Amino acid sequence: MEDCIATGLISPPIGRDRSGVASVFSHAVAALSIGACFYRPGTSKRVWVVGAVCSMIPDLDVIGFRFGIRYGDFWGHRGFTHSLLFAAVAASAVMLMGFRRVLPGLGRFPIWMYFFLATASHGLLDAMTDGGLGVAFFSPFDSHRYFLPWRPIHVSPIGAARFFTHRGLEVLQSELLWIWLPAALLVLSVWLMRRRAAPSA
Ligand SMILES: [Zn+2]
Repeated sequence: MEDCIATGLISPPIGRDRSGVASVFSHAVAALSIGACFYRPGTSKRVWVVGAVCSMIPDLDVIGFRFGIRYGDFWGHRGFTHSLLFAAVAASAVMLMGFRRVLPGLGRFPIWMYFFLATASHGLLDAMTDGGLGVAFFSPFDSHRYFLPWRPIHVSPIGAARFFTHRGLEVLQSELLWIWLPAALLVLSVWLMRRRAAPSA
């Protein structure tokens, strides 16, 4: 969703301020709400923080614009780094780098699955935006860029300054409505279900 160049038809400018701040937070919010489904008491907070970071990693591909990589290329924006395979590789790499030992709380496979879903959720949300190119979910096997049939989220403007424009406010509203609100509802329902399932004292 971040910075996905309003129409996708024009080349993005090679500017410095290309990140949509709200979008980065929205990806993290989505990741944290997924974390609520995996929550086990005693799990290190590091797991949730790293999950939130995982959800932002795919947009590192915007660096490619500086090096002349075009939007629709393999390494272009919403390309390979937004794919499901990348999410699996990223989750595995994060496990190897920081979660080799068994931790209290959540087991290693659920932690991997959480990191995978947090990373993959990024592409899913981008595919629900109304601008830019679609997401290469199946790269490198299929380079086609996909959108979901339902795209209610406004694509975010490029740069923090433009974020405070009318368009920026529209984006913020749509992200609050279509990402933050469902995320809060998911967390609430998981909490309610767990409360119901817990044996009463
Ligand atoms: Zn993205």
